[in-house]
Amino acid sequence: MDNKFRSGFVTIIGRPNVGKSTLTNQIIGEKVSIISDKIQTTRHTIHGIYTDEEAQIILIDTPGVHKPKHRLGDYMVEVSLQSIHDVDVIIFMINAKEGYGKGDEFILEKLQKVNKPIFLVINKVDLIHPDELFPLIEQYKDKCDFTEIIPVSALNGNNVSKLIELIKEKLPIGPKYYEEDQLTNRSERFLISELIREKVLIHTKEEIPHSINVMIETMEERNNNTTYLQAVIITERDSQKGILIGKKGKMLKTIGQESRQDIEAMLGKKVFLDLWVKVQKDWRNRQSLLSEYGFKND
Ligand code: GDP
Ligand code: MG
Repeated sequence: MDNKFRSGFVTIIGRPNVGKSTLTNQIIGEKVSIISDKIQTTRHTIHGIYTDEEAQIILIDTPGVHKPKHRLGDYMVEVSLQSIHDVDVIIFMINAKEGYGKGDEFILEKLQKVNKPIFLVINKVDLIHPDELFPLIEQYKDKCDFTEIIPVSALNGNNVSKLIELIKEKLPIGPKYYEEDQLTNRSERFLISELIREKVLIHTKEEIPHSINVMIETMEERNNNTTYLQAVIITERDSQKGILIGKKGKMLKTIGQESRQDIEAMLGKKVFLDLWVKVQKDWRNRQSLLSEYGFKND
């Protein structure tokens, strides 16, 4: 049996907000990628690792393909598109509720030149009437030579196990790259900073969600099985710092409390979270800061 084990890389690309990170988490069964209703929630590629007796699927959750407005945006689009060259299967995801758009056209153009299995995954089918599905498939089916067209709901898991089976069929015979219990390639520190960033995204509006970054400055084991964490939310302007702290520190307190609960659930131990806000002017356009914050093309 063992020599029939299959493994490989699968990228999920699509416009922002179609549900790429939700699908990644649904397949992995844990939150490895943060989710929000704001666009550009995912900034780095994140590998989610799915393993069963027959196969290992390394899912690459990418930032959405969008029109970049700053250097960080350039980086995000670049890593999304780069991923199509290094994988065994490409999942091109669309939102059933939104239909065809300019962003899709741009991605499909890139996919024309790729010679590997491409799955069209139509997500959020829970939001449409079944009758709407067929015309949607009609609209897309000739735009690319899709290997499979699969309607799913990443949110409630509908048809996701079918998708996993179809992916497995397309993977080459290969090794188990990661141990069974490893769910992501990202470090604990990275996941923690992402959980904090998610809370900022959930509680803030307009430009703030996109203007912040989170750095973990200290992570130490203390006695009583407690982890001490010092984290900094970096913003671009003093006004944003004010909003993040909030009246009498209320906003920062909410973000801190919700983050701590999630981090405790992830680490399985008590956490003391010391959360700060710092202004770093125009960090999204400063190459040196982008490198320092880990936005590097490798
Ligand atoms: P991404 O930008 O493509 O990674 O999208 P996310 O995974 O962050 O999801 C964007 C939004 O769509 C979130 O509010 C999700 O809860 C929502 N969403 C994702 N999948 C589904 C789905 O299958 N059905 C519905 N109704 N909402 C979904
Ligand atoms: Mg995402």
